[in-house]
Amino acid sequence: MGKEQWCLAVPKREAEQTRRRLLEEGLLDRNFRPRPEGDTVLFPLTEEVAGATRCEFEALPERAELPRHELVGGIAIMQEDDPEGAERLLSSRPSLQTVLFPETAVEGEYRTRRFAVLAGVPSTRTRVTEYGLSFDVDLSLAYFSARLATERQRVLGVMEEGERVLDMFAGVGPFAITLARRAGLVIAADLNPAAVHLLVHNIALNRATNVVPMLADAAHLPRLGFAPFDRVVMNLPLAAPQFIPAAAALCREGGTLHLYALEGQEGEFLPLIRAVTQGEVAERHVRTYSPGKWHAVYDIVVEKGGC
Ligand code: SAM
Repeated sequence: MGKEQWCLAVPKREAEQTRRRLLEEGLLDRNFRPRPEGDTVLFPLTEEVAGATRCEFEALPERAELPRHELVGGIAIMQEDDPEGAERLLSSRPSLQTVLFPETAVEGEYRTRRFAVLAGVPSTRTRVTEYGLSFDVDLSLAYFSARLATERQRVLGVMEEGERVLDMFAGVGPFAITLARRAGLVIAADLNPAAVHLLVHNIALNRATNVVPMLADAAHLPRLGFAPFDRVVMNLPLAAPQFIPAAAALCREGGTLHLYALEGQEGEFLPLIRAVTQGEVAERHVRTYSPGKWHAVYDIVVEKGGC
């Protein structure tokens, strides 16, 4: 008898690429067996994502014993403080170096967590590979989420060659360095010195010669005399909406803002957006945060004329 799970159906020719991406993002539920259906393969997911439906899967007995976790490079982050489960997890995969348990929620201005080491090397630093790029991260010093990998590729996919991009809350640089593949110039700002230190390192690691790192509070950016940007990325889900006026001021007429926001109601931030632009707005669900709350992205075309 199968169990109903969130599931993603993809064409068979994209199955291997999707399996790897879901694994990297910690979204593939390894307790169940993916299965073919017609011309597609159904992948079991750990949570709801855009395009997911409900399907039945058979449990994999040999995996059913492994504790739930999220993978970030060579680190597994467990949901339970279970040292014995952590040892089993560590020995189940040669690529794992450390198993952590978060002692706090993501907190503070720097959006970091404190971790206890449950098994393996006592370190919160690891290297993440994402679509051919490498990011060195330190989970206790600076924010990083592997779960936004697909979202970064989506934004890259809508860009024109040579754009001027601003990443207002760049962290260790995953958006900035990904978008640099198509951009002419990326300005990447963050106010966490440890994040900017890793950002500088990751720019060099990926030989991204068109990314300029900045230790700066995003609120001060409009005063620094930048020429207008074609695209502004705003990934600070709890507070980004308050930076909409600053982002719109930094963006050219007809340019795009990508606003990531935590919301509990569809269209929650439309009134704030409408106060600065009458341009087109597309809103989509990125991932579930907690029951009744989700991360949404608003793609906002800046048209200041009528405001
Ligand atoms: N964009 C990165 C990513 O996807 O991994 C980091 C996103 S993280 C949710 C938000 C980042 O914004 C943190 O690195 C934090 O230090 C930074 N931050 C918070 N307030 C800021 C501000 N006022 N100005 C600039 N950066 C800020």
